[in-house]
Amino acid sequence: MTLIIFYTAFGLTKNSMKTQNFDIKNLIRPNVAKMKPYSSARDEFKDFKEDMIFLDANENPFENGVNRYPDPRQVTLKSHLSTLKRVPEKQILFGNGSDEVLDLIFRAFCEPRQDNVITLPPTYGMYAVLAETNDVGNKEVLLNNDFEPNIDAVLNAVDAQTKLIFLCSPNNPTGNRFSDLAVKKLLENFNGLVVIDEAYADFCSAESWSARLHEYPNLIVTQTLSKAYGMAGIRLGICFASEEIIEVLHTIKPPYNVNGLTQKKALKRVMDESGVQKEIKTILEEREKLQKTLKNVSFVAKIYPSEANFLLARVDDADKRYNQLLARGIVVRNRSKQPLCKNTLRFTVGTPEENKKLIEILNGLV
Ligand SMILES: *Cc1c(COP(=O)(O)O)cnc(C)c1O
Repeated sequence: MTLIIFYTAFGLTKNSMKTQNFDIKNLIRPNVAKMKPYSSARDEFKDFKEDMIFLDANENPFENGVNRYPDPRQVTLKSHLSTLKRVPEKQILFGNGSDEVLDLIFRAFCEPRQDNVITLPPTYGMYAVLAETNDVGNKEVLLNNDFEPNIDAVLNAVDAQTKLIFLCSPNNPTGNRFSDLAVKKLLENFNGLVVIDEAYADFCSAESWSARLHEYPNLIVTQTLSKAYGMAGIRLGICFASEEIIEVLHTIKPPYNVNGLTQKKALKRVMDESGVQKEIKTILEEREKLQKTLKNVSFVAKIYPSEANFLLARVDDADKRYNQLLARGIVVRNRSKQPLCKNTLRFTVGTPEENKKLIEILNGLV
C-alpha cells in the first residue's frame, strides 16, 4: 500500500504500466504483420561448402569477385559489429545507409494517410522527407531554446495514431546530446516507438542508448558508418532494437540491400578499430581547437556546444558569410532557414590543415 502511494506520488505507476502494456504487435501495419519475407536463393540454401556447384540463383558463373549475390543477412559483418557494439546479433539490422533503416521503420509501422510521427526541429531533414514520401503525418514540436526536447509539448502532441517519435542525439545541426532525463521520460510515457538517431554517437562520450535496449521494448537506435567510421560512400546504416522489431524490419527489407563490396569494406574497417579511434581522437582535438579559434572571429556571436564532428555557429549575417567562404573555396552549411537557427552556419571539422585554412580565411573577412 505504502509502495503504491509512493510510486503514484512520483508518477511511476503510470510509466511502468505503460511499459508493461507495450506490445509491438499493436504497432505493426496489418499488411506487414501478415507478410512472409521474400525468400531469395541465398536464404533457401545456406549450407555453403567450398566445392559445391551453385546453379540456384541465375548468376554468371565466371568469377570476378562480385558475380555472386551477397549474403542477405550479412552474417560475418554482423558478428563483428555485435562484438564491437556489444549488442546481440539478433538485435541488429543493416541498411543501405541509416536513411534506408529509417525508411524501413516508417514502412513497417506507419499506415499511410492514417498514422503520424513526431519530429523535433531543428533536426535532421530526412525524417520529414520520409514522412512525406510515405504519406505519413509529421507533427513538428520545436526544441526549446537550449535545443532540448520540450517533453510536455511532445507528449501533448501524441494521439492514438502517433507511431514514432524521432530523437536525434547528438542532434544535427545543433550538435548537442539530449539529456538522459528527457529521453527517459519520452521512452517511459510513449506507447509507440522512440527512434534515437545516433549518427554521431562515436564522437560522444556518453554511452549509446543501445546499451539499454533490454529496459525499453519501444526503443530503436540507429547508427551509421558514414560519419566517425569514414565510410559515407559505402552506405552502411545500423539498426539496434528488440528481436521482435528487427524481425519485422527484416521481413520487409530488400534481400540484397547491403551489397557485397559494402560488406567487405565495412568488415575491414570495423576490424581496424584502433585506426578508427585514432581518427576520432584527432577530430575531437580539432573540434576543441576550432571551437576556441572560431570564438575569436570578429563576426561570430556564438558557438553552440557540440558532441558531434561539427560546430553550429551564430554569425552576424549567415548568407553574406556563406557566400564569402564559397568564393574562397570553402563550402559550409547555411542552416539559417531552420527554426531557432537564424544566422547560423554549420562547420564540419576537417583535417588540421583544412581547419587552419578555414580560420585564416575567416579572420581575413571583413
Ligand atoms: C548523416 C546523418 C545520417 C545519414 O546516415 P547514412 O547512414 O549516411 O544514411 C543519419 N542521421 C543523421 C542525424 C545524420 O546527420
